[in-house]
Amino acid sequence: SNKDIKMTAPPEGYTGEGFFATKLSDIVGLARANSMWPLPFATSCCGIEFMATMAATYDIARFGSERMSFSPRQADVLLVMGTIAKKMAPILRQVYEQMSEPRWVIAVGACASTGGVFDTYSVLQGIDKVIPVDVYVPGCPPRPEQILDGILQLQEIVKKESVYRRGSEEYQKLLNSYNIK
Ligand code: SF4
Repeated sequence: SNKDIKMTAPPEGYTGEGFFATKLSDIVGLARANSMWPLPFATSCCGIEFMATMAATYDIARFGSERMSFSPRQADVLLVMGTIAKKMAPILRQVYEQMSEPRWVIAVGACASTGGVFDTYSVLQGIDKVIPVDVYVPGCPPRPEQILDGILQLQEIVKKESVYRRGSEEYQKLLNSYNIK
């Protein structure tokens, strides 16, 4: 019977026996942050580091992102890894547009973030010229720990986001309250 159950002090957030309250947006944010499906858009060497990130030693599954999606329709986060030639830019843009909201982007490595060492006429000088970027991961190449750190940083952003759609007035109000630009 219930009398046999000894109650210990309730953890933070609990306000009584078997009851706690939170905000819907917090629960949705937590669920989203811990189950992001990545689309690996790998064009060169940084992609090799991502392979190590997925393997047993670094184990991206610990963060709920082991389910790779090679269809933009089923992906939550676009991981751009490698040099993006200007001819590739419209394709990258199209892949991003095929993802449904909520969607996020991580620029992995110097090339995706800024063009890296390829400061030349044929290379896009950062993917943020064609799509919005949420997190930039430095390095040439970044080590797997840095890629994981990028995912953890994105998780913090996602947790604070809301059930509101990006661009809506409510969404902007929420971002303002968290001081996120
Ligand atoms: Fe290769 Fe360095 Fe560019 Fe990554 S940042 S794709 S390692 S040249």
